[in-house]
Amino acid sequence: MTAQPFLPFALPDIGEAEIAEVVDTLRSGWITTGPKTRRFEEDFAAWLGEPALHALAVNSATAGLHLALEALGIGPGDEVITTTHTFTATAEVVRYLGADVVLVDIDPATLCLDVDAVERAITPRTKAVIPVHYAGLAADMARLIPLARRHGLKIVEDAAHALPTTSGGRLVGTLASDATVFSFYANKTITTGEGGMVVVRDDELAKRIKVMRLHGISRDAFDRFTAKVPSWYYEIVAPGFKYNLTDIAAALGIHQLKRAREFQQRREAVAMAYHQALADLPLQLPPGPRDGDTHSWHLYVVRLADEARIGRDAFIEKLFAAGIGCSVHYIPLHLQPYWRDRYGLRAGQFPHSQRAYERLVSLPMYSRMTEADVARVAEAARQALLS
Ligand SMILES: *Cc1c(COP(=O)(O)O)cnc(C)c1O
Repeated sequence: MTAQPFLPFALPDIGEAEIAEVVDTLRSGWITTGPKTRRFEEDFAAWLGEPALHALAVNSATAGLHLALEALGIGPGDEVITTTHTFTATAEVVRYLGADVVLVDIDPATLCLDVDAVERAITPRTKAVIPVHYAGLAADMARLIPLARRHGLKIVEDAAHALPTTSGGRLVGTLASDATVFSFYANKTITTGEGGMVVVRDDELAKRIKVMRLHGISRDAFDRFTAKVPSWYYEIVAPGFKYNLTDIAAALGIHQLKRAREFQQRREAVAMAYHQALADLPLQLPPGPRDGDTHSWHLYVVRLADEARIGRDAFIEKLFAAGIGCSVHYIPLHLQPYWRDRYGLRAGQFPHSQRAYERLVSLPMYSRMTEADVARVAEAARQALLS
């Protein structure tokens, strides 16, 4: 058997236009936040179909989540509800602000947070909820948004997986939440290496996020066009953060964004090919979107069925031995020492996340995967499960 090259779990898809734009930026003399970042923000709002939305570029989704919660006034004594079945970034930002995280279990069908569990977790201290559109499938926003409104809760969507994803036919980013945060980390559906975008409707919220993403600097305190205040003048109105995106990164984003739909179509084709190739194996395949909706297919997550003869860990080892990279999304937060110990959490409180975690594997998924790559993964899965 000839050794085949390693087939990674994820790969960025960087084209010549992205490279040329980065080179142009490097030659321009302006490499940090500037004209390309502004263009990326304008393009992003236009891409969402609502140029009046505020799209605010930041250097990570983690930074964006932090800024959104800060601008919404989350602080000590407050509780924020989110899913245990996520990356720690979703929850850690709540702790940055001195508020407490209340983790809830997932809907086992979608692996997104269970809206009934959210309702049961609401207390008088609850101020916000952070849904995660897991793997690129929208959380049940049709039920979550009215529930949050009834209880006066803010909604910050962790849309790190959700470009492009729709819910009820509307793009995530344009729903009736308070803020939506996208990630452009290296393995996400579009990438700037590191980067993120916060999308908000409210002008005051946008203003606060803009000030806090760059040291608490405000230039709105005066009218720059009156020429009475010199261009070097600024005021510090808060102890802000250093969360701005560079123009080098934005140069990538401008062209990645143009390809977002093409990437989604490629990923969807890979998902459909997996569905076919894996259909007769002892695997639970990931759910598709509701009729008429779009799944970004950031991840393709299978779960080993009860009748599988090997466990998840052995399955991953066999795929690695066949030169195929896999991952696990996620080790739930309730199992992580920090979260477990801070809130005294037990696996039995999150039976659906726990059960999913023990059985799930993310198979390779990226836009440049070929049909032959999918066939190779499927064949390795078959060998691992049936031989
Ligand atoms: C990647 C990811 C983040 C963090 O994104 P960064 O841009 O790396 O900060 C947050 N939440 C989820 C669900 C993610 O997958």
